[in-house]
Amino acid sequence: MKDRIRLISEEALKEIGACQAGKDAVESLRVKYLGRKGIITELFKQMGSVSAEERPEVGRLINVLKEDVTRSLDEKAALTSGAEEAGESIDVTLPGASRRIGSIHPITKTINEINALFISLGFRVVEGPEIETEHYNFETLNIPLEHPSRDAFDTFYVSFEKKTLLRSHTSPVQTRFMEKNKPPFAIIVPGRVFRPDATDASHSFMFHQVEGLVVGDDIKFSDLKGTLTTFARQMFGPEARMRFRPSFFPFTEPSAEVDISCIVCGGKPREKRCSMCGGKGWLEIMGAGMVNPKVFEAVGYDPEKVTGFAFGMGVERIAILKYGVTDIRFFFENDVRFLRQF
Ligand SMILES: [Zn+2]
Repeated sequence: MKDRIRLISEEALKEIGACQAGKDAVESLRVKYLGRKGIITELFKQMGSVSAEERPEVGRLINVLKEDVTRSLDEKAALTSGAEEAGESIDVTLPGASRRIGSIHPITKTINEINALFISLGFRVVEGPEIETEHYNFETLNIPLEHPSRDAFDTFYVSFEKKTLLRSHTSPVQTRFMEKNKPPFAIIVPGRVFRPDATDASHSFMFHQVEGLVVGDDIKFSDLKGTLTTFARQMFGPEARMRFRPSFFPFTEPSAEVDISCIVCGGKPREKRCSMCGGKGWLEIMGAGMVNPKVFEAVGYDPEKVTGFAFGMGVERIAILKYGVTDIRFFFENDVRFLRQF
């Protein structure tokens, strides 16, 4: 009896050790040895025929055998099921999980580009509050109350009592900066501005501006032209030409509207109709001028000693021209089919 138990033990452990075929094969071995009619179960049934003095020893040996076989079957099952699970997760024919990468909003992208360009010319970037006071939005910029020029600046008021409003341009940051800093300096001011315009393809009640201001001892109109020409050529290509049309802004004198040659027809429309410039050959991109001495007085500078120039452009306008966007509303609708293109 003892010899049989030893033989079965060797055979069983060998068979289990050699088993490779997975969960089902391990289960059939478990049935073969430990099942209701299994080899080890049969051994227990034969205990009756063992003599009384041998019985405790034989019983112990069968129990050891049962434990050994159970343990090695469990180990084998754990190994084969692990291998099967690992096999399932590396099915190389399955399509991979795709992750969409976001893109930078075209307006942010345009502002970054404008900033980088002016930083390379020695400007620094300055920002200011979006909720402004009448004082900075109008008075310091030579736009007195009751002055007809204020009509051009329809404004969202936050509080009439406190005279606070959503800034209608980025220019108040000019005077805020000048009050705290001494010339010479060159700054640009990107930011959101607000005007109660009805929304259509070319108007939005909220849009972005970049304002520029250079003040120093001997800043001339030619410096303004040189700076803006450099900007236009970097932004729209070396072929871009520029022209200044006389205009009026309360905070600059003289003032000019700045146009660039049409980026579609190059300013030479062969046919009367160019879809971009409508045959005019020029595209308006910004307003500019020499800082009005009254603005210098408002911030405590001596207009006899310092001069400067300022310019302001609409970021959406620049982006529309640069990327050929047909409707300003696309920028704010957050339709990913539009945004994904940038
Ligand atoms: Zn054109």
